[in-house]
Order: sequence, then C-alpha cells, then structure tokens
Amino acid sequence: MDFKEKMGKLITELNNYNYHYYTLDQPLVSDKEYDALYDQLVALEAETGVKLPDSPTQRVGGEILKGFAPHRHLAPLWSLDKAQNIEQLRTWHDRVVRLVNDYNTKNPGNPLPNPCYALELKFDGLTLNLTYQDGKLVQASTRGNGAVGEGILPQVKTIKSVPLTIPYDEGTIEVQGEGIMNLSVLEKYNQIAAEPLKNARNAAAGALRNLSPKVTAERKLNAYFYNVGYSDGITFADHKEMMDFLRENRLKVNPYIFYFEQFDDVMEQLADIEKRRSELDYLIDGAVVKVTDFRIREALGYTDKFPRWAVAYKFEAEETTTVLQSVTWNVGRTGKITPLARVEPVELAGVTVQNCTLNNIGDIERKNLKFALGSRVFIRRSNDVIPEILGKVTEENDGEEILFPVECPSCGFPLEQRGAHLFCNNKTGCKPQIVARITHFASRDAMDIETFSDKTAIQLYEELGVREPADLYTLSFDS
Ligand SMILES: [Zn+2]
Repeated sequence: MDFKEKMGKLITELNNYNYHYYTLDQPLVSDKEYDALYDQLVALEAETGVKLPDSPTQRVGGEILKGFAPHRHLAPLWSLDKAQNIEQLRTWHDRVVRLVNDYNTKNPGNPLPNPCYALELKFDGLTLNLTYQDGKLVQASTRGNGAVGEGILPQVKTIKSVPLTIPYDEGTIEVQGEGIMNLSVLEKYNQIAAEPLKNARNAAAGALRNLSPKVTAERKLNAYFYNVGYSDGITFADHKEMMDFLRENRLKVNPYIFYFEQFDDVMEQLADIEKRRSELDYLIDGAVVKVTDFRIREALGYTDKFPRWAVAYKFEAEETTTVLQSVTWNVGRTGKITPLARVEPVELAGVTVQNCTLNNIGDIERKNLKFALGSRVFIRRSNDVIPEILGKVTEENDGEEILFPVECPSCGFPLEQRGAHLFCNNKTGCKPQIVARITHFASRDAMDIETFSDKTAIQLYEELGVREPADLYTLSFDS
C-alpha cells in the first residue's frame, strides 16, 4: 500500500474515533490506542512532507496569524427577539397565532398547519458560522454584524467536535452553532493555569478570537450546532429534518431539544430547564423557542432585526460585577484559614449577595486580586452555594492591597503556609478549631448526637471548658 493510501486509512480511522469521542461522547478506544495511531500519522506526515486536508494533525493550531480576514455570510445571521419574562413570551406566541390566522384567512386554499414549537438551550459562548463546500470545511467565522464576520478557520479547526469534512458533498452550506468551553474543562485548565480564566464564555470567545491558534487548541473548546443558515442544494420541511441533517453530517447537536404542540408545555419545560441549569457542564443564558414548520417560518418572515418565528427567553444572570469591600479570615476545623470577601450588596439570580468566597491566598494571587480592595470584580453564583469572586474587571492593580495575616485571627498563633493555604497549627488552643472539631464529632456523619449544633459546642466550650470530644463524656447531667 502506498503512503497516501496508508495515510488516508489512518485519517479515516482517527477521525471516526474523534467523532465518537468528541461529538457523540462515546469513546471507542482508549487514549493510549488513539495516541499510538496519531503518532504513526505524525511520523508519516513528517517523513513524506504531505498533509491531507482532513488530517487531525491540523487541529493543533499552527503559526500565529496576522489578522482576521472578513467573511461575508452567504445568508445573514439574525439576532433573536428577546423575552425577559413569561408575559413577553405569551405576547410573542399570540402574535405568531394571529399572523398564522391572518395568512390562512388570505390563503384559504393552502392553509398553514397549527404552529408547533422546538425548545433549545441558548448557549453562552461565541456564535460560529461554518462554510462547507462539497463536503469540506473551507471557512469558519464569527457572527460579526450579522452580514460580515471575522474568518477564524484555523482557530475553529482546533475544536475536535467540528468535522473537517462532512458526508454532504453536493454544494455549499453554512451552518451556525456556538463555540463553548465546558465548565469541567475550564476548571481543569484553571487548576494549572498561570493566568486563570474568569469565565467560560470569555474563555471561549477569547480563544476563538486569538491570533495564535495554538492558544485556541489549549483551551479544548467544544461546539454545538443548531441551524443551517444557507444551502444551495437542500431544503427542509421543518426543524426536525434540519436537525437530523446536522446529526447525519456529524455536527454536534445538543441532546436537550424538545418539541411541543402546545405552547403551555413549552412554558412548563422552560421552568424545568431553568431549574436544572446549574447541573449542565456549560453555560446557558436562556432558551430559544422556534416555530418548527418551515412554511410557517416563511409566512411569518422577518423584522429588520430578527425572525418573527423565534424568540430567546433570557434566564436570570448568574454572574454580575460588584465592588470588593473587605476580606476577613476564618479558622476552620483543621486550622485552615479561609478568606471571606465582603462585597457591595448586589442582586444576583434573585438574592442579595454580600459575601463571597476567595478560597485561599494562592487563589487571590492567581486571580490577580492581591490589589483589588475597593475595585470592581466579577462574581458568579451557582446552585445555592456562596458566590465566588472570579477576578477583577480591569487588569490594573488599582485597588488597595489585601493583607495576608501572619498570625491566627483567633488565637494569635503564627501562621504557616502550606501550598496555597495558611494554617494555624495551635490545635489545642485555638477556639474555632476546637469548636469545629466537637461539632464535627457530634455530627450526623460521626456520632450523630441529635440536636447538637455548633451553638451547643460553643456553649460547652465557653461554659463547661470542653476542649475535645472526649471531654463530652466527662460531663454530668445537671437539670
Ligand atoms: Zn488559631
């Protein structure tokens, strides 16, 4: 077999593994087996100096680029009408029904069906427009102003769930989706990054608009696709058909897509998505409701800004900015000192936030917060846990310094730094440590002493001199 044939075989095999791993989330082989084949391909390419267009080695990102070449989208990328609440969503729906009825009155011979709806997640990343020509990915661009975007093909090629070639090879199509960074990937990245990223959305957008595709590759981005915006050879009857086309062409489609005949069911599902939002491994900032039937879409048409057949329902933000006012230091059960930030009160996802975590002193330095007192910071709330400070809004060190304590704020014992944390080693003489140990001893996970709370532990410490769990057994009952 000649080298090109061998290369082609390797590439087909690797791309198939890639597809199962990154698009379907169903790996077929171990990383080790994949790497062995990949190394074979790299060696073969180095030996022959040939790189075939769909080779996965193209995904590592090459030289630094000089700029972004503009790309004129083959069909405009519309923005979406927004509904901030349920009433606005109802108003949108009422207009759809009215317009369909108007159309049917004017066209009694060929009426439109009753509108049905598709409900999708609204990803919080960077919109992508991919151009495939005769089955090959020839361009990828940002949304830009909707008519012209920035060409970011080398960057997008590093996203392993984006196919470099697709089965459909009968003309040109443009598909739209969203480039994202998975939250688990961001967390891993930040654990070792010299400069942690503030949030997944900026991480994805910044990586895709980075002139060094190698940086894009390091971020290990992902993408979901949800629309065929242009096609010169294929039409669809409805949204389902279009989504099937995307799937058949190995484009990654998010599994959370719902179809409804009744608008009330859409509303119910919306509430469910909002509730389960924090369980997702990516950011969403809402959901999108679309009329499924393409004849209705055509009849409804567009305003000068957006289609009348789709609407974005915005969820409450989980991130906002506020001012970091002060930092206090708390002593935990193991003697670990945890910084707690007080911020200017701000509304976030329905609650007033006043306190945020900062994890440890290492985190403060890594997030460039050492000189952030009095500065504006990003905060993020997920689930019901206390919100986290993500970083400063500006890059400058324009705030007051956060002074790290050298002595235990409770007992005055000199602190020791171990890794990113400060510790008070005064195990037997530091009140908060003792109280926390006694509380822990009595807790459900340990002795499970009913009605015993940290208040009980404080009281026993202060009034009866209890200093360790064993002391509990020397107490006598006194009514
Ligand atoms: Zn102490």
